[in-house]
Amino acid sequence: MTSILNADLHCHSVISDGTLTPEALAQRAKANGVELWALTDHDEVGGQQRAAAAARALDLQYLTGVEISVTFAGQTVHIVGLGIDPDNSELKLGLQRTRGGRGQRAREMSDDLERIGIHGAYQGALKYAGNPELISRTHFARFMVETGVCRETNEVFRKYLTEGKPGYVEHRWASLKDAVRWIRDAGGVAVIAHPARYKFNATEEFALFSEFKSHGGQAVEVVTGSHSAAEYISYAAMATEFGLAASRGSDFHSPDESHTDLGTLPPLPEHLTPVWQLLTARIQTLQ
Ligand code: AMP
Ligand code: MN
Ligand code: MN
Ligand code: MN
Repeated sequence: MTSILNADLHCHSVISDGTLTPEALAQRAKANGVELWALTDHDEVGGQQRAAAAARALDLQYLTGVEISVTFAGQTVHIVGLGIDPDNSELKLGLQRTRGGRGQRAREMSDDLERIGIHGAYQGALKYAGNPELISRTHFARFMVETGVCRETNEVFRKYLTEGKPGYVEHRWASLKDAVRWIRDAGGVAVIAHPARYKFNATEEFALFSEFKSHGGQAVEVVTGSHSAAEYISYAAMATEFGLAASRGSDFHSPDESHTDLGTLPPLPEHLTPVWQLLTARIQTLQ
């Protein structure tokens, strides 16, 4: 399989903070020409069977996936796991623990918003959470658009819910080491998600990549919906420098909110090793 394969290995369903079902995402991926797809819900593998079955029915090649929330050097980092066994008990337990603090965090976020006159945000956000165990900032953002606090979810993240802004609550997620270990022990490949999104200085970023690698991490997202064309180039260089394979994924959440649709990103730079080359035995096909 070559680097020009239309692979989309990062997106979200109603099982986490997307607005489409796994089945609707599979159909959208197929309609958009995706040839290899993965559903990567935050901290949750509850949609994997449905996604795999839907992909199978459409003759769409599928890789299992998850996006794990990690705390590294005081910031939240996302680690995608591809080709994992969703029934692996250590992985399931680890994800359950990682999700565990979300309810309490959501209540504290709501209390903080209350302070500035935004009422009922917890109940309001919960209405949008397809999975009550997975209440996320995205659900708060949707509530704040619904109630007219902001015009769109991006605006919510500019003015609220992020560090130093109202509604932000610091939270401790999984460790980098644990997340990579859960993924590897479940037979998968760990991938640093959208590295350009983090606000690390050069030393911290170097530490992230080298520690990730030393724990057994194998890939990095180079072409993603959150990167600019210039960032494709800088993270292609990082992949080469650290001997990591490269991944490609839209991070699609919703037709109304996401600016990058499934399967519409440019191909990976040709000189990189596509992550799917490490996963040929884990790809689910009809044959
Ligand atoms: P949480 O896991 O609850 O902290 O929520 C994180 C989710 O919020 C991410 O996966 C995105 O879907 C969304 N998000 C975070 N930052 C932004 C942003 N600046 N713009 C749009 N969505 C964002
Ligand atoms: Mn999300
Ligand atoms: Mn992410
Ligand atoms: Mn994501």
